[in-house]
Amino acid sequence: MIKRTSKANKGRGSLESGMEDQSSNMNNDLHQLFLEELADIYNAEQQLTKALPKMAKAAESDELRSGFEQHLEETREHASRLEQIAEQLGESIKRKTCQAMKGLIEEGEDIMKEEKDSSALDAALIAAAQKVEHYEIATYGTLATWAEQMGHSQAVELLRETLQEEKATDEKLTQLAESTANQKAQSE
Ligand code: FE
Ligand code: FE
Repeated sequence: MIKRTSKANKGRGSLESGMEDQSSNMNNDLHQLFLEELADIYNAEQQLTKALPKMAKAAESDELRSGFEQHLEETREHASRLEQIAEQLGESIKRKTCQAMKGLIEEGEDIMKEEKDSSALDAALIAAAQKVEHYEIATYGTLATWAEQMGHSQAVELLRETLQEEKATDEKLTQLAESTANQKAQSE
């Protein structure tokens, strides 16, 4: 029994060292991918710190406006958490343009112009904002999973904190849509 165990261990040992090589490669590739995605979402958050004040200004209802203003503060914090994560890992965040966020913001700007005098303006703003939140939720969920896989526990904590705030914002936007914006759009 003991013999079999040690033989099994020996066998597994050589397999493990083979797997270790593979997994350290994988960790390296995943680390690079993590940094790419970190740069992408960092730029996305920066784009949003410029877009959110415009959305707040455009909002018809006070509740939606203050929602956007509150999320602007959170968004600044999201960017600074990403800086913290890079610093903890001894890395710096690369300069990169998040094309997806650029597109989402451009679409949002178009729709703001189109709906400018419409009673559906807030409904349109909420729709645009929720697309943004969903992009962020997907990215932070992915980053948190990768960070966990690589054992970066401090990063996991910070990423999950942001993820929760993005989810809460999305839910708040749904509530605002259901409680006011959509009815208003329909009644006029
Ligand atoms: Fe964010
Ligand atoms: Fe957000």
